[in-house]
Amino acid sequence: MYADIVIIGAGVVGLAVAAELVQKGKKCSIVVMERHERFGRETSSRNSEVIHAGIYYPEDSLKAALCVEGNRLLYQYARQWEIPHRRLGKLIVAYNDSGVGALLRLREQARRNGVAGLELLDEKQISRLEPHVRAQAALWSPTSGIIDSHRLMACLERQAIAAGALIAYQHTVTGLDYSGGGYRVYFTNPDGSTDNLACARVINCAGLQAEHIAALAGIDTAAAGYRIYMCKGEYFSLPGAKGKLVSRLIYPPPLDELEGLGVHLTLSLDGRARLGPNTIYVSQEDYSVDAVHARQFYHAAREFLPFLAPEDLEPEMAGIRPKLQGPGEPFRDFIIREESDRGLPGLVNLIGIESPGLTCCLSIARMVRRLGTVLDLN
Ligand SMILES: Cc1cc2nc3c(=O)[nH]c(=O)nc-3n(C[C@H](O)[C@H](O)[C@H](O)COP(=O)(O)OP(=O)(O)OC[C@H]3O[C@@H](n4cnc5c(N)ncnc54)[C@H](O)[C@@H]3O)c2cc1C
Repeated sequence: MYADIVIIGAGVVGLAVAAELVQKGKKCSIVVMERHERFGRETSSRNSEVIHAGIYYPEDSLKAALCVEGNRLLYQYARQWEIPHRRLGKLIVAYNDSGVGALLRLREQARRNGVAGLELLDEKQISRLEPHVRAQAALWSPTSGIIDSHRLMACLERQAIAAGALIAYQHTVTGLDYSGGGYRVYFTNPDGSTDNLACARVINCAGLQAEHIAALAGIDTAAAGYRIYMCKGEYFSLPGAKGKLVSRLIYPPPLDELEGLGVHLTLSLDGRARLGPNTIYVSQEDYSVDAVHARQFYHAAREFLPFLAPEDLEPEMAGIRPKLQGPGEPFRDFIIREESDRGLPGLVNLIGIESPGLTCCLSIARMVRRLGTVLDLN
């Protein structure tokens, strides 16, 4: 068995890369290997489904550049393929003086990142937009929105398959050997038997397992800075009537930009509201939601959502971020890297694709294709 390219992982990023390469690359055979029975069973279906604008990240980072580009590409794509989405806009609210200072810094960061259309609003303007939100000032981000991530992945999968990619569900990659002429990918089949496939290139889109896959290829992941920390984010849902009191995404200013954007209110396309996510470093994949945390969420959010009552919060779901920075460590960017200089030509590792990875899926896919000068795909 032989394929030109094996993509490991059918989350939103692996599917976007498959759709991009199979359509725009040179005619080449592509196999996507995914351990679950369907796409998006991990982080890609356990997130806020927010199309981010690119406000928070340091300029010159991949996160900033790919988010600004990805935001534009994702809206275009969603319009073209009729994927449910809404450009609701987002208010980052400040309810005290230090919060206002943080908003000014964010506005400056966003300007450096090339984010268009941000406006600083005063109390009156906020209450005209969102009468039930309490804030002294807010940064209005008109290009933030929400998207149906399941429909997005279904569309990417359909396109990839229609253009000739093969998606091998229930196939778990267990080994990766480079032998000069190319790679041999070892995997288990749905019935538990083992097999292998030769290929010229491997694209590692394995999310939480991306470090493990890089290690299978022989990379010393600790020395390379590829160590992934799992960081859980829990969500609590609000009753339908409370969700109707807001019509935009409402975020606090990030208190600790390294660990998350702060507990915020997001809306789903059918108008349901939820609060989340928090940041809890965990040692294993565990998607339970601890009901005890409802109190912390309530205290964090009632400052700007005064209509909340403690009994409103119901545990909903959790997702896990594949973070490159451990607790308290400084900002780390996405790693999207072709590994020729490690003696592994044609291996592209995508490591630490946490938020805003959903927003960036199409821009990441383009970037992987641009690495095609090395991969000989253009
Ligand atoms: C709480 C939370 C909130 C978020 N909110 C947002 C947001 O609002 N907006 C935004 O832009 N981003 C958000 N993100 C980030 C976004 O969800 C991720 O960046 C994105 O989903 C990553 O997609 P992926 O395809 O890289 O990973 P995944 O979806 O995790 O896909 C990786 C796939 O690889 C497969 N795999 C792993 N190992 C193997 C193997 N050995 N063999 C075969 N298959 C394998 C897995 O089964 C999985 O399906 C959030 C993330 C979290 C956790």
